[in-house]
Amino acid sequence: MTFSDFNFDPQLFEGLQSMGYVKPTPIQQQAIPLILEHKDLIACAQTGTGKTASYLLPVLQHISLGDKKHTKALILAPTRELAQQIDQQVEGLAYFAGISSIAVYGGGDGMIYEQQRRAMLEGVDIIIATPGRLIAQLASGAIKLNHLQYLVLDEADRMLDMGFYDDILRIISSLPKERQTLLFSATMPPKIRTLANTILKNPEQINI
Ligand code: AMP
Repeated sequence: MTFSDFNFDPQLFEGLQSMGYVKPTPIQQQAIPLILEHKDLIACAQTGTGKTASYLLPVLQHISLGDKKHTKALILAPTRELAQQIDQQVEGLAYFAGISSIAVYGGGDGMIYEQQRRAMLEGVDIIIATPGRLIAQLASGAIKLNHLQYLVLDEADRMLDMGFYDDILRIISSLPKERQTLLFSATMPPKIRTLANTILKNPEQINI
């Protein structure tokens, strides 16, 4: 299997070639077709397997075909470092497709908060956020998520370990109910199963 088999938009294909991706990894081979079919997904996968691109590529494919006026995808991640890494992959993959993204995380001084707030007010296609800071920005009115189509929880087990369970449910309560939800986790403890049962609709499952 090669990336040509997915019939990605040419500009997205150019992006993945510029990143040096030649062959889809096992999780990409399994996850990309399911996500392109608009299925909800629960995937058990470690870092280093190519899990990030396995959800970014199909989400970017859908966004590249639609209108780009509203925020379409929200990716929740446990830490600033992971949010920044995901944002870098979006920037690389989406470079030629002209899809915009921002990483929203806590810490830093008020300047960072203000920069993030202004960028979101200007409009952005994809938001990658840590839960606590996202809630603060939602309260400030900077983010409009009423056209959201994709929600991704990356490293969901770590987010729960860090005490973000209630924050995640609070964020989800402000999202459209008609959306595609993708949950990635390195481990599958009962709390993750409970969360998955609450927020996913008839999910497909992948174990890598
Ligand atoms: P991840 O598991 O998402 O943290 O990805 C691990 C690393 O593999 C990242 O540096 C990606 O840029 C890279 N990567 C993801 N997919 C591929 C691929 N199909 N071919 C080569 N490198 C990849």
